Amino acid sequence: MSAPPSHATAKASNAGIDAGTEVDTPTPAADLISKDPRTFKVAPHLLDREAVCRDFRWAHARQALAGLTGGALNIAHEAVGRHALGSRAGHVAIRWLGADGTRQTLTYRELDAQSSRFAHVLVAQGLRQGDLLFVLMPRVPELYVAVLGALKAGLAVAPLYPAFGPEPVAARIEIAGGRALVTTPELYRKKVAPVRSRLVTLTQVFVSNARDAQGEESPDGTLDLQHLMDQASPVFKTVATRPQDMALLHFTSGTTGRPKGAVHVHEAVLTHWATGRHALDLHEDDIFWCTADPGWVTGMSYGVITPLLHGVTMVVDEADFDPLRWYTILQDEGVSVWYTAPTAVRMLMKAGAQAAARFRFPALRFIASVGEPLNPQAVRWGQQVLGLPIHDNWWQTETGGIMIANTVAQPIKPGSMGRPLPGVEALVVQRQEGGAITRAAPGEQGELALRAGWPSMFRGYLGDEARYRKCFAELDGVPIYLSGDVVRCDAEGDYWFVGRADDVIKSAGHLIGPFEVESTLMGHPGVVEAAVIGKPDPLLGEIVKAFVTLRPGVEPTETLHRELLAHARVRLGPAVAPRELEFRPALPHTRSGKIMRRLLKARECGLPEGDLSTLEAS
Ligand code: ATP
Ligand code: MG
Repeated sequence: MSAPPSHATAKASNAGIDAGTEVDTPTPAADLISKDPRTFKVAPHLLDREAVCRDFRWAHARQALAGLTGGALNIAHEAVGRHALGSRAGHVAIRWLGADGTRQTLTYRELDAQSSRFAHVLVAQGLRQGDLLFVLMPRVPELYVAVLGALKAGLAVAPLYPAFGPEPVAARIEIAGGRALVTTPELYRKKVAPVRSRLVTLTQVFVSNARDAQGEESPDGTLDLQHLMDQASPVFKTVATRPQDMALLHFTSGTTGRPKGAVHVHEAVLTHWATGRHALDLHEDDIFWCTADPGWVTGMSYGVITPLLHGVTMVVDEADFDPLRWYTILQDEGVSVWYTAPTAVRMLMKAGAQAAARFRFPALRFIASVGEPLNPQAVRWGQQVLGLPIHDNWWQTETGGIMIANTVAQPIKPGSMGRPLPGVEALVVQRQEGGAITRAAPGEQGELALRAGWPSMFRGYLGDEARYRKCFAELDGVPIYLSGDVVRCDAEGDYWFVGRADDVIKSAGHLIGPFEVESTLMGHPGVVEAAVIGKPDPLLGEIVKAFVTLRPGVEPTETLHRELLAHARVRLGPAVAPRELEFRPALPHTRSGKIMRRLLKARECGLPEGDLSTLEAS
């Protein structure tokens, strides 16, 4: 495999992540996925990455946007308002694919008008700038209308993943003190009605029944959105929000513990615009598909805001994951830029190359992925099966936008997250005993930090100021944000994910990054997914334990068990390879698709399971 020279054996100390001792060597050319510039279908925005990084200023992103008078800035105006006034007005903004085969398109002009109606509805109901609207909707056009309309009216938007049960829905509305909610009759009945009496701050619930074939009446205690929209004007003067006004509230995935509510402001739109250009390479004629649900930060930042900022057509699929459906969409909709997640890629890999072989993807020119480490096998699978490598990139709910990325014109080192984007300064640091922060030596692993102050940086954890403050420190007088992820930066400036700080395993004085071990296991042809944890051990501190799911048709035999342990030992060495391995039919994932290692660990150790509100039902 093409992971970097192993740094999994960096020495552990009580003072945090200590120096690795190995010498950094460049990735061999044979392991690089190089690109021939003659194959680019359009000239990449980041053809000369170094030059763009050197010259880029956030002010350039601001200049590319319209703004409102007096220095005001509103995400919805940038996403639809300004396009509806210009040459993109008649261009299709949303191409919606219903689960039942229905299709609908909305041009920028139509999306603008619809969202203006919704803004009027909110205002007519007494909702004002500073209020918070929760959005609990399936992926239907009304969701996009509601998000943009609320932002136009100056409200902040908090999306909720529609598969949440009533408890996670209630907990989030309660902690944020949400005043309004938009949902569907079905979701209202199942998710909100059972907890409504608890939600004392929630004064208005809008129910959109546009897609209800029975024309179902709005439930008691709710407002009929269609009725109100029909009476509203399609022209609305967007509220002149300030760049620092709250725009979005996103809850984290809950992979490491109880989800946190990260506050984002309208200024985040600068990052959305810049990353749409630099990381996703969006051009006007693109057909863009982001597979993430807008209930999560990826689905909102890159499945709603960013494509609209760039005036492209975005595909929205209402249905859940299905390999043949996804290949059909990529082919038949002529998707040119595709943004997805490692879990989805692994599921496509599991479905087998023959599933993809029936399809052709001549329009596809760029694929990117985020959310979890992207195993080198997945990057190469993209190249072999879809004709393009998958470009890993890194960011978090807290960063509000892509920070580190493999970009369209640069060679890929499979397994690496790539380099910081223009305007982003990343560094690797170590927390010393006593709390001091120091810079890691070149090539050494440590915590990924970012110079604070990029536009989409979160501005708080709702209701937890102390925790927010703990995310920041100073290094040489410069404020930095500490991500909680452990990485390594190689001599050429490419970042390699090691593991979350919580998941790094300390065994016999070694620090072991789960990602490298998991990727090695995935290098075995029988393995489809792997997760490793540190299992407490009286002698070694922790031992590496692996949980593995197998490809369909591969039997979990004793022989395979021995073979996998040997496969890992040969490649990683005995200090790093798993000592225990268990086959599982499936691994626990968050609803946003991340492996929940903490749950595997809690169950293994008989510890409390903690907050499971984001656990995907298996
Ligand atoms: P919580 O903070 O509640 O535990 P979470 O961190 O999973 O949940 P998100 O903000 O959705 O919530 O996910 C961000 C995290 O996902 C990152 O901190 C990182 O650990 C992981 N991640 C994202 N992209 C990548 C990537 N390309 N490679 C490795 N890890 C990634
Ligand atoms: Mg996190």
